[in-house]
Amino acid sequence: MSADVLSGTELAAAIRARTAAAAAESAERGRPPRLAVVVATAEDSTAWYVRSIAGAARRVGVDCAVVDLGPAAGTAQIRDTLDELAADDAVHGVILQTPLPAGVDAADLVTAIPVGKDVDGASPASLGRLVAGQRAFAPATAEAVVALLAHAGRDLAGRHAVVVGRSTVVGKPLAHLLLDRDATVTVCHSRTKSLAEHTRSADLIVAAAGRIGLVTAAHVRPGAVVVDVGTNPTYDGRLLGDVDAESVAAVAGALTPVPGGVGPVTTALLLEHTVIAATQPPDRA
Ligand code: NAP
Repeated sequence: MSADVLSGTELAAAIRARTAAAAAESAERGRPPRLAVVVATAEDSTAWYVRSIAGAARRVGVDCAVVDLGPAAGTAQIRDTLDELAADDAVHGVILQTPLPAGVDAADLVTAIPVGKDVDGASPASLGRLVAGQRAFAPATAEAVVALLAHAGRDLAGRHAVVVGRSTVVGKPLAHLLLDRDATVTVCHSRTKSLAEHTRSADLIVAAAGRIGLVTAAHVRPGAVVVDVGTNPTYDGRLLGDVDAESVAAVAGALTPVPGGVGPVTTALLLEHTVIAATQPPDRA
């Protein structure tokens, strides 16, 4: 058996097309959508990621301002910057990029991003609204997983979904989005005993642990759908997922590739959120 490949390329292109149209319309009405990305690190991988977001933004007509505070920035300086962006009517979306300098608490700082501008669903207020069923931006990666499954026509109602990973950016919000779509959800983490026992009972496995090759054929029930959220850079410049694609493809019914699966959909959704923030932000009726 060879798993269907659930590529994110086609869906990402469709999201970009509707985002570009909405961005142009908003600009015509005098509100050119603008995203601000706050960076406080000298890490090469972050610089590469931020450049790729800025390039993707430009291509859909979203202005992207990178506010680089440098690796020596402290909590007060970052908070002041976020407060200024929160108050700036010309800025519609704000992302605080991690990693941050040692001793700076991202979880505390993201509270400075208002719900209406929190395009990557990072703040506790956005997450709380999501769980309470109120409008808010979901973290783009978590939303990308359910969007990709919907695009592939995979119905989630009544299915057993096992999410491997419980971070605030991916695992927890994703578990909630899957629940919202009537899946029965199990969340596993580093203290879970016998991971394979849980995953082998799943119709859908989402691997979001940041561990190269964690999910192998032994974790997968024949025919199950496997979504690989992991993006783990290797020393030789490759990007590997959390799923051992070679062995899992022989057992699974469908599998998302890395790269080219969840990643491109995530970026496209982030930009779509920015345009929505410029036109119908979730904190306004
Ligand atoms: P994270 O904050 O490090 O969280 C990892 C989670 O995985 C934790 O909940 C951890 O459990 C769990 N875990 C670690 N080892 C495990 C194991 N051996 N068995 C079971 N669970 C285990 O990572 P993250 O930010 O959620 O990111 C996860 C992965 O997704 C990374 O590869 C990241 O690069 C990728 N990612 C991709 C995108 C995209 O756009 N494609 C976006 C964001 C993240 P504990 O809670 O017990 O520590």
